[in-house]
Parts: sequence; C-alpha cells; structure tokens
Amino acid sequence: MVEKFDAIVIGAGPSGNAATYTLAKQGLKVLQLERGEYPGAKNVQGGIMYSHELEKIIPDFREDCPTERHIIEQRVWLLGDDNYVGTNYRSEAFNTDKPNRYTIIRANIDKWWGERIRKVGGLQICETTVTELIRDASGKVTGVRTDREGGEIHADVVIMADGVNALLAKRAGLQTEAAPENVALAVKEILFIDPELIQQRFGIKEDEGVVIEIMGKVTKGMCGTAFLYTNKESLTIGIGCLISDFKNGDCPPYKMLEDLKKHPVIRPLIEGAEMKEYAAHMIPEGGYKAIPQLYGDGWMVVGDAAHFNNAAHREGSNLAMASGRMAAETVLELKAAGKPFSAGNLAAYKTKLDDSFIIKDLKKYRELPGIMHGNKQFFGAYPDEITAAAHNWFTVDSVDKKTKEKAIMKAFVKRRSVMGLVGDAIKLVRAVR
Ligand SMILES: Cc1cc2nc3c(=O)[nH]c(=O)nc-3n(C[C@H](O)[C@H](O)[C@H](O)COP(=O)(O)OP(=O)(O)OC[C@H]3O[C@@H](n4cnc5c(N)ncnc54)[C@H](O)[C@@H]3O)c2cc1C
Repeated sequence: MVEKFDAIVIGAGPSGNAATYTLAKQGLKVLQLERGEYPGAKNVQGGIMYSHELEKIIPDFREDCPTERHIIEQRVWLLGDDNYVGTNYRSEAFNTDKPNRYTIIRANIDKWWGERIRKVGGLQICETTVTELIRDASGKVTGVRTDREGGEIHADVVIMADGVNALLAKRAGLQTEAAPENVALAVKEILFIDPELIQQRFGIKEDEGVVIEIMGKVTKGMCGTAFLYTNKESLTIGIGCLISDFKNGDCPPYKMLEDLKKHPVIRPLIEGAEMKEYAAHMIPEGGYKAIPQLYGDGWMVVGDAAHFNNAAHREGSNLAMASGRMAAETVLELKAAGKPFSAGNLAAYKTKLDDSFIIKDLKKYRELPGIMHGNKQFFGAYPDEITAAAHNWFTVDSVDKKTKEKAIMKAFVKRRSVMGLVGDAIKLVRAVR
C-alpha cells in the first residue's frame, strides 16, 4: 500500500525546515525528503542568519542553535583597484541577550534543524531525491516519486522547498527556466584562522562579529557583490555575479575570488588563514518580476524555489523561513477548517506573502535587478571615480578645496557626461524607491 501523509516537504534548507517544523509541531503527519547525505550536505550560504524569523518559529532557538558570532558591526565597502570607500555601523545595542543577526556555518544549522524537527515528531529522510510530482487525472498534485525503490508517497499537499533550481516545478511545467540575468553564481571559501587574530583584526571580543559587504572593481565590471564574514574560528569570503555576465565576461568565478583575496585591503584581514572549504551555488536575483506561480491544486512553492531573495539587502534565508512558515500555516488553517487543498484555497498562502515583508520588499526593489544588469557603470566607472575623488579629497597638498571640488566634478563629467550623471541618478532612485 502506498503511504500517505498530511504533507510532504521537499528539501531541508531553511524554507523546508520552517515548513516541516511548523506542521509537525501542530501534530500533522509530515514527511520531509532531502537528497543530501545529511541536512546541509548540499547547502551553501554566506552566511548570516537573521534571528527574527527563526524566533517566530522556534522561540527558544538560542538554547542549542550552533551559531558562530553575533554581529555588532556592519561594514559596506566600495572597492577600487587598491583602495576602498566605506561606511561602518557598530553599536553596543547589538550586544544583547537576543542578538538580531549571527554568522553561521550552514551545515551545522541544517543539522540542528533536523534534530529540532525530530523532537516535534516530524519525519526527515535524507539521501532521497524526489524525482517528480505525482498528479491525478485533474492535474492535482497528490504525492511524489523518489529515487528509492517503490518510492511513491502520497500526501494531501506537497510543499516544494527544493532551492534555486526548482527542478520539480520545472519538470511538472509549473515554472519555466530562469533567465541567466536573473540568477547569480556565487563562490565562497571558509578560511581557518586563529580566533585571536579575528578579534584583533576586526576589533571585536570573543562572541562578537563583523560583516563586510563589498561592491566595486572586484567584480571586474560585472553585476555582483562580495562579502567577508567573521565566524568563531574562521572567516567566510565569497563573491558572486550574474550568470549572464560570467557567460559574456572573461573572468571565471574562482579567479575572481582569488583576486578578491589578493586585493590590498582584503589581504591583511585574511593573511595566514587556511582554506577549509570551497563551495559554489546559485542565488535567485531576479526579484519581484521573476517570482513564478506560487501555488496550485495540491502544491505550494517556498524559499529560493519561489525566487524569494532580496539581493539589495543580501537577505535570503529569512525570506525562506518566513515563506516556509506561511505555507505551513496555510495548510494548518485549511486542515482545521476541513477545506481541501485546492488552488483556490491555497491562494491564502499568496495573500499572506503579499501582506508580509517578502513581497513588499521585493516589490519595492522590482526595478533594481534590471537597472543594475543594464548599467555596468555602477560596477566600473563609479567605483573608479568615487575612490579617486576620495583620494584627491583626503590628500593634503596645498591645492584649495574649491579647485579640488572642480577637479572631482570634471572627472565625473568626463567619465559619464552631464546627461549620463543625471540619468544614472534617476535610475538609482527608480531602483530603490
Ligand atoms: C554564497 C551564498 C551566500 C549567501 N549568503 C546568505 C546570507 O548571508 N544570508 C541569507 O539570509 N541568505 C544567504 N544566501 C541565500 C540563502 O542561502 C538562501 O536564500 C536559502 O538557503 C534558501 O533556502 P531554501 O530552503 O529555499 O533552499 P536551499 O537552502 O537551497 O535548500 C534546498 C534543499 O532542497 C534539497 N533538494 C533539492 N532538490 C531536491 C530533490 N529533488 N529532492 C530532495 N531534496 C532536494 C537540497 O539538497 C537542499 O537541502 C546565500 C546564498 C549563497 C549561494
């Protein structure tokens, strides 16, 4: 006899974990399937974890969650060829017993989720790849097929939390292939380093952390960003650009990361560190306009598979957890009301998303991906001119300040023209309004 569950969740990343935990905690019979050897085996994240969403699902997560450092300082750097212009925000208010952000190592966090899921009665099975959705004659999704022998399992509803590739939805014709300008490829390394050195170099105490978000010449004119995060005994460094740009460019991702590590302002921070892990992964960055159909008869899609990623703020895992929770809450509400999991009823999931920060934020930045992709001056000409302007301004050489201002303006106009500068300012406002 084919086994039947209340719900099947495909994938054990933050979106699938949030959905599974929420359902299991309320006593539903839920099965979570993960293709990795263990949860987190296949997963890549920078990684910053945002506690606000996790706290909603597991309020006491801090008791045993294996976080690295809580973040007390955020730096945003625009790198030139051998310099940077940046802003820092640091606050003692981040030194609280309930910090807002932590650096994490994803494999540790995903394993921890697995333990918490089992504690509330959820069934998580690893080393099992879902190969396709099962649909009845009307097209309603009624279960999944897996790569295990006799691996057909039925459920009232299937939640697809299978990440950026969203292969199952694509195979079932529920999504189309994402355009290369809507997906970034990121590479990252975890570098082992003495914690004392981390603390000295970043000016922090034992559990405190610093994150540096980076833009500028390091992406070689391509649309992308980089990052450097402090863990307990390691640093995570990474860089990513749109796949369309990598395709047309002449610098492969691994070389870009090597060059980032050699950059004169980055090298002193990582000097002496030893590479422990290298990983590459895609990030859905098409924003609001790239969001696919999110629900249908018997199915919902959550997290990266739904293209929920806010590239402007480097948020992904929080959108994943929130959407997983909302999908689960939709299931719980329909179940309690004795209603079927039809497309019409599952539309309640979309209503929840629309009312949340997920859709509100993605909508706010809906023009950003297109504008950044189509205006490479933001990744080449501006980092050049802004860092050159800073160099001029901070060099004390007996040239009067008015003359310096004129020289700086002249350089910008020479590079972009007056119309170009005005146009770029308008584009930036449109991208973030
Ligand atoms: C380099 C990098 C840095 C990032 N940094 C950050 C950061 O600092 N902060 C942040 O919030 N976000 C960050 N993100 C984004 C974040 O990692 C994602 O938004 C988040 O992991 C999405 O969660 P998810 O559960 O939807 O998908 P995933 O985490 O990708 O999980 C999907 C899971 O499904 C499994 N799976 C896939 N197909 C199948 C199948 N057919 N059968 C069974 N299992 C399957 C996979 O093995 C995987 O475990 C980063 C991403 C990258 C690549």
